Amino acid sequence: MPSYAFLRNQFVPLGEAKVGIMTHALHYGTGVFEGIRGNWNEEKKQIYIFRLKEHYQRLQQGSALLQMKLPHSIDELCRITIELVQKGEFKEDIYIRPVSYKSTEAMGVRLHKLDNDFMVFAIPWGRYLDTDACRCCISSWRRPADNVIPPSAKITGLYINNAFTKTEAIERGFDEGIMLSQAGNVSEGSGENLFIIKNGELITPSVKDSILIGITRDTVIKLAKNELGLETTQRSIKLDELYAADECFLTGTAAHLTPVAEIEDRKIGTGKPGAVTARLQKLYFEVIKGNNNKYLDWCTPVYNK
Ligand code: PMP
Repeated sequence: MPSYAFLRNQFVPLGEAKVGIMTHALHYGTGVFEGIRGNWNEEKKQIYIFRLKEHYQRLQQGSALLQMKLPHSIDELCRITIELVQKGEFKEDIYIRPVSYKSTEAMGVRLHKLDNDFMVFAIPWGRYLDTDACRCCISSWRRPADNVIPPSAKITGLYINNAFTKTEAIERGFDEGIMLSQAGNVSEGSGENLFIIKNGELITPSVKDSILIGITRDTVIKLAKNELGLETTQRSIKLDELYAADECFLTGTAAHLTPVAEIEDRKIGTGKPGAVTARLQKLYFEVIKGNNNKYLDWCTPVYNK
């Protein structure tokens, strides 16, 4: 199937979408990216892109932080993305990767006096955490504080912190690593936010604990409230509280909603996905696949019928 990319304001075959070796972002991590999912609905023969606009709003905020003005409005970015997916004719779950980056081919660490471009491509991508219940370690790498690199923006250079964590986890035989903040509070996974359930209360680290403010996190908070009548408490979680949780799960565009079975070889609850987690997970998959009419506003259909 042909796959396309969009860069320098035009669509090109993916294999021809290239940047030069002196591109600033390649050397200094001066880019901001997004991960967006298109979810294939077999019955409706449709791909629904989940919360497309919100992803571009976050990209716009991150770009502004790096002193970049996106060359397209958010509505244009949404239209470009829909056309990109249409061109690919995908009939499976896909992952869309937009990047806003310093495109000038020049050396020198800085943010100012550099041009920027926007690129996006889409590829087929199924499961990210290839497990029904993941085993996590506690990373020896901590999340940077806001005054080091703000973790609330998906800055490409920041992700070396996440890469350290992920590789450490895999090399130690785990599926994912959970990072603590500089203060030692539970922060997030290398590509996911984290939730725990304790005595019926749903809790997730607050924005003060160096997290990315995830769109899936927000989705789960809203679904828990609207559909289960369960409010989410956003506050710091200590490590001992994490180990003692009744249930735990991770959320992210790539990872969806994945239950956590064990952390550092300690079982969480029974060591099997918990009841609240299972209910939220079922709801979540219905919603992202466009099978829940109440939340169709979050789902952008790609193919014209
Ligand atoms: N934290 C980090 C570090 C991430 O990279 C991601 C993935 N974007 C998330 C959390 C989850 O964010 P979202 O639900 O918006 O994908």
